[in-house]
Amino acid sequence: MKIAVIGSGVAGLASGARLAAKGHEVHVYESNSYPGGKLSAFEQGKFRFDAGPSLFTLPEHLDAVFYDLGKNPRDYYNYERLEKSCHYFFDDKTRLIAYSDQNKFAKEVQDKTGTNAKSVIDHLKKSAFLYEKTHALFMEKSLHKLSNYFTKDVLDALINVFKLNLNASMHEVNSNRFKDPRLVQLFDRFATYNGSNPYKAPGVLNIIPHLEHNLGTYFPIGGMHQITLALVKLSKDLGVNFHFNTEVGKIIIEKNKVKGININGKEVEFDRVISNADIYPTYKKLLKGQKEPEKILKQERSSSALIFYWGVKKEFPKLDLHNILFSGNYKKEFDYLFGKKELYTDPTVYINISSKYNPKDAPKGSENWFVMINAPANTGQNWDQMIEKSRRNIQNKINNMLNTKIEDYIENESILDPRSIESKTSSYQGSLYGTSSNTKFSAFLRHPNFSQKIKGLYFCGGSVHPGGGIPLCLLSGKIVSELIK
Ligand code: FAD
Repeated sequence: MKIAVIGSGVAGLASGARLAAKGHEVHVYESNSYPGGKLSAFEQGKFRFDAGPSLFTLPEHLDAVFYDLGKNPRDYYNYERLEKSCHYFFDDKTRLIAYSDQNKFAKEVQDKTGTNAKSVIDHLKKSAFLYEKTHALFMEKSLHKLSNYFTKDVLDALINVFKLNLNASMHEVNSNRFKDPRLVQLFDRFATYNGSNPYKAPGVLNIIPHLEHNLGTYFPIGGMHQITLALVKLSKDLGVNFHFNTEVGKIIIEKNKVKGININGKEVEFDRVISNADIYPTYKKLLKGQKEPEKILKQERSSSALIFYWGVKKEFPKLDLHNILFSGNYKKEFDYLFGKKELYTDPTVYINISSKYNPKDAPKGSENWFVMINAPANTGQNWDQMIEKSRRNIQNKINNMLNTKIEDYIENESILDPRSIESKTSSYQGSLYGTSSNTKFSAFLRHPNFSQKIKGLYFCGGSVHPGGGIPLCLLSGKIVSELIK
């Protein structure tokens, strides 16, 4: 078959490679001049930056794309397991290192906060249990094909799912388990891994710490962008055709069946079309005139981000690859993000420094700082004004917590905000992960990976099932390739 993939995000690349390996003629159309969508990179003076994702978990799903297609992933990319997944800095000056060795982490928590190490291990065990019980149902299969419900794993997950902290919020579950507010805050933060609000998201999202604390965090050798480069090379080796700087204007439908796509007014025929573009513009623009899934398109979007990329002419030995400087009032920060849709004056600041592991990313004696705060989805706020205020607030926070004057060391700067995330990747409202998981039904309400009305039309990527983040996007690419018979 002749198959068009609209978008070269990780999910589009993974589905394209898998389908090319089955012998189909695959064409990937990408409006940007470069592949990867959110997972891209750029240079700023002598500094290199990964533009979007910085945390790599569940590498087996990336490896599987290669192994499943008869290739050795190590011929394409490699990664290392991190010994420390994150350095946490709290408002009261407590500093805590999340070691990937569970016992070492639990001891660190006990030493720094007085919380019994066993309660940390118990929490992580419960997180592992949640993962074991749910991943087959929520991650690996289409939730929208009845036949998928009759496998043992999925039936088991369904039986258990309603026992799994669906009625309490993540914050409620964590507050019941830990008395120390610092630990509650540490575990609440995992809601942001899919752009959600821990005070609303169901407790079942406590599945997420399992990935980092039990299964581990990883660093692709050479930086996150190697993931995109590896998938592009694999795709090319399998004969996928790439068309960059090529925006698809429309998906052509005839008699409820896909006929092809429209590029610059020209029709190109295809047997199957996969949209890797965000589901919102897919309906509003590419499928204009077709019936829309109104409820799905009205769902609350995940949070977005404001990122300052700073070339910093100093080294900070206290910092590691992943660093979190926590807000003094987490509840208020989320009220601002999801309620007022504004940036809070005391935000939680995430600093990622890839040059700690990839020294080539910054000149000697310098570091490449990716400084990110969570931001509300773009609903037309006055971003220029908010960014100026926020830069000052972020710098104050860094200066207080790290005892420095960071503005004296910033050599160069660029900024990514919800508007530019939206314009560069077509992500509606600049959301990082499609829709939020702020209700207990969110996982069931994501758009399916296929159209129930239009034959030959499929969807992959962070805004559809199973959701955002690199591993889930890769799985959506796999699900689509399995749905296309
Ligand atoms: P996208 O990356 O959304 O790409 C879609 C592509 O489709 C784009 O290239 C776009 O140009 C193209 N396109 C859209 N419409 C058209 C059209 N009409 N014609 C042609 N092309 C079109 N995930 C993690 O796992 N770990 C993290 O640490 C992490 N941090 C993040 C930080 C940031 C700042 C951001 C932005 C995201 C982060 N994520 C993280 C989320 C992760 O990046 C995404 O979930 C994932 O990369 C999305 O991939 P996707 O396949 O949905 O495609």
